Amino acid sequence: MKKIILMLFSFIALITIFSTASVTAKPPLKKSSKKIIVIDPGHQQYANTDIEPIGPGAIKTKYKVTDGTHSPYTNKKESILTLEASKMLGNTLKKRGYKVIYTRTKQNVNISNRERANIANKSNADLFLRIHADGSINKKEKGFSILTTSSKNPYISKSVNKASLVISNEIIQKIEKNKKVKDIKGIIYRDDLSGANWSKVPGVLLELGYMTNKEEDKKLADPLYLKSLTKSIADGVDQYMKKK
Ligand SMILES: [Zn+2]
Repeated sequence: MKKIILMLFSFIALITIFSTASVTAKPPLKKSSKKIIVIDPGHQQYANTDIEPIGPGAIKTKYKVTDGTHSPYTNKKESILTLEASKMLGNTLKKRGYKVIYTRTKQNVNISNRERANIANKSNADLFLRIHADGSINKKEKGFSILTTSSKNPYISKSVNKASLVISNEIIQKIEKNKKVKDIKGIIYRDDLSGANWSKVPGVLLELGYMTNKEEDKKLADPLYLKSLTKSIADGVDQYMKKK
């Protein structure tokens, strides 16, 4: 009997040692493996007309940040629309497992385009998405477009430029499949955008549509349309991340 009790005790002791061992042997918590996406809702309540270079080493300067376009029909500011669309896009991306960081979540801020790019750089973002809407003196002008850097851009690395073009293509393909989006201007190359030129991570600027076009402005004011549009953008992001 003594022997059995002794065996039982050693058995319990052994289990205790093993269970403690398994606790202490647990690997340290891994750093989040989530992909990081920085979303920049374009513009802000008030412009900051101080200047900053348009890229590292650039002589050419631009306003730090402007207050954007607005709807001549409802007076809605671009900075409000970009905030709405960014939050929708961000929520969709969070649900799909991405870590989302916004450059701003309210109107009354003062963050230059260079500083916005720096937020993406410091966050070590996998992607930097800048959300904007267009405006034109020609009220007939309309359509979704993506602004990305050209292969001749002197401010950013070749790999960032290449990756930015890949993400542009992925997003535009998903937008083309979205039947709600009637007009698509496509990909436009721009090397004068401070927010892109100061960025060390791949990114694009999405022009959701024209607020100065009555038909498109009405669509952009509809949350269901914005939801559908931002879902297509998220689909493009997924596609890009899959190939990475
Ligand atoms: Zn804009």
